[in-house]
This record gives sequence, structure tokens and C-alpha cells, in this order.
Amino acid sequence: MSGPDIWFRWNRKNRYTIAALLPLVSGARLVDRPRPGIMLYSIATPQAEEVYREVDAARNSGMKSVFIAGGPHPSARPEEVLRHFDYVVIGEGEETLPELIDALRTGRDPGSVKGIAYMKEGELIITERRGFVDLDRFPSFSRPLLAPIEITRGCPWGCAYCQTPRLCGSVMRHRSIPSILSHARMHMDLRFTSPNAFAYGSDGLKPRLERVELLLRTLSELGRPIYFGTFPSEVRPDFISGKALELITTYCTNRTLSIGGQSGSDRILRDINRGHCVHDIEMACEICLDHEIVPNVDLILCLPGETEEDQMLTVELAEQIVRMGGRVRVHRFMPLPGTPLESQEPSPLMREAELRLGRLALAGKLKGRLH
Ligand code: SF4
Repeated sequence: MSGPDIWFRWNRKNRYTIAALLPLVSGARLVDRPRPGIMLYSIATPQAEEVYREVDAARNSGMKSVFIAGGPHPSARPEEVLRHFDYVVIGEGEETLPELIDALRTGRDPGSVKGIAYMKEGELIITERRGFVDLDRFPSFSRPLLAPIEITRGCPWGCAYCQTPRLCGSVMRHRSIPSILSHARMHMDLRFTSPNAFAYGSDGLKPRLERVELLLRTLSELGRPIYFGTFPSEVRPDFISGKALELITTYCTNRTLSIGGQSGSDRILRDINRGHCVHDIEMACEICLDHEIVPNVDLILCLPGETEEDQMLTVELAEQIVRMGGRVRVHRFMPLPGTPLESQEPSPLMREAELRLGRLALAGKLKGRLH
């Protein structure tokens, strides 16, 4: 059916989402600036203000476009986003976005589309909530825009700073091995997205390593390098065991693992609902190093309620990981909409923490941003 041109506003930050949605919108093309037609955006909180400026400028220039936003930020703050956009897709876009575009093309009432928000006569309309999708019914990507293979969506843990369970639900959904295999054939080396790679095939609370092994064994028959449990996915420390690491050393190319640690303070780990303790992080690092795998541990500084003592415990944990032979990635806490911590202020960053972490960075053992 002919109709307005459809454009995905592509950038480096949203490319995996766009890769999943592009094959679902017939005739859509990628652009790096607004064009007349239907403009589709996927927005995370750090990019929101910049995107609003771009959309406002396009409208002010007289461009005739319908602007549609989806992603974690619009899903949590539809009313704010609708000051700049015409429609918001709330939650997962695989079913909602094509249906909304079809409604716009055919002149059907958008109010019949589940899972969207829009303004009508000054009133915010949020339509009926849409259920979560079955990953196997939709591609993780298709040519020409390749992306890591999404093997799992959703997470049962509910960490207080994290948007994943709020956006994708608390029940883990896994892509089947045949579907993963069909995507893997398009790649020269294999990388994955998952909130916790060692949770593949499980309920996300306890590993089912026989499922992980079946996946890795099947993929290894393709004879391509496999990178599992490392960027862009990660693993929880309490899912790391000797048996899990043997799967990495047997089937995979990566000799690092990305581990979500988050804090060196047990009190903070409890407060943010991580479901593991500092000892689990230390044990995970030890098991990694015993298997000659370098642990690369994510830590968050300045979490709400973090005292000076808590912050120094996190700095000490970072130093300890580096002494053991691991690496650290630090981030400064940012309140994300839709999470229990969305209205909490970050705790102050101590000068001493900055200096000590700066030393690790200079030694090439720490990456990340504190500002
Ligand atoms: S931080 Fe990881 S484990 Fe925690 S809720 Fe988010 S995805 Fe799940």
C-alpha cells in the first residue's frame, strides 16, 4: 500500500532496537535527521532532551511529519514525550508499532490500537495495555542491519534502579535454539543480548545450565567465534559457578565475563533489591580467575542513600577486584523513569573515591564515567 514515507531515526545508542523493528515496518528506511512522512524514534533517558530539540526544530521548520516515540523513556513518561511527539508506543513495539502505522495509513481510529498514548482534545489517552511478545514470532534483526542476537527478554529480579523488568516484565522469555541458530547464520561471530546470559532457558532465578550448554553446543557446530556473557550482555554474580565457566572455556572465544556487581556495600545491595551480596561478587571473580577468565565487574556509585562508608566499600571492592586480576566498569547513578528510584537524588561523589578510582583508570583497569 502506498502512503507516507516511513523513517527510523537511527543512532548508535538505539541501533539494536531499530534492528529489531525495521523488518516489521514494510518500506521503512533509516535516517539520521527528521524527514517528511512518519518519523519513528526509540529513546532512552540520556538522549531525551536532545531528541526533543530535534523534533521541535523540525516542527518549527514546517516539516509535515507524524512523530512516534517508543523505548524506555517514552514508555515511562508518555505525557512528557507527547509535548513533542504525536504518539507514544508503550512497552514492546513489535506488535504495537506496525498496528499503529497501519491505523495511520488507513485512517482507522488510533484508539483501537493497544499499547499507545496520544493526546486528544487536550486529554491524555492511554489505550489498553498490550501483553508481552513471544520472541520467536519476531526477528531479532534482519539484513542489512545486523545486531547481537537477543536470546532473552524480561527479568524477575526487580533491581530498584533498572528499567528492564518495568518495560519487559518480570517473566523471562527466551528465544528458541532454532530461532537463535537462524540468526547466527547471518553473523561471522556470535554475540548476544540478555539481562543475564547464564539464565538462558531458566526462570531467571536459578540457572539451568543444561539449556545453556545445549545452546552453546548447537551454536558451536557453526564453527564461528562465540562471545557469551560478555558485552552487550552480562551475567549475575550468583549465576557464576565452575560448571558455568567450563561452558565458556569449552565453547566460547571470550576470555572475559561482564558481571553486574553494582555495590561493595551489603546494605546498599539489600536496599536496591539486588538479591545477592558482596561475597557473591568476590566468589564470582575468584571462580572466573580460576578458569582464566577475566571478570569485568559493573559498579554503580552515588546510589540513593549511599553513605561515605558505603561508597568507600565500593571503592575498596573495585581495588580488590583489580588486585585479584579483574577489571571494573563504574557508572554514576542516574534516576531512570519508571523505576522505584526515579525521584531519588544521587548521593554525592566523594573526592577520595574519585581519586582512588582515577588511579585504577590510569592503570587501564577501570572504565566508565563518573560525570
Ligand atoms: S539490573 Fe539486571 S538483574 Fe537487576 S532487574 Fe535489571 S536486568 Fe534484572
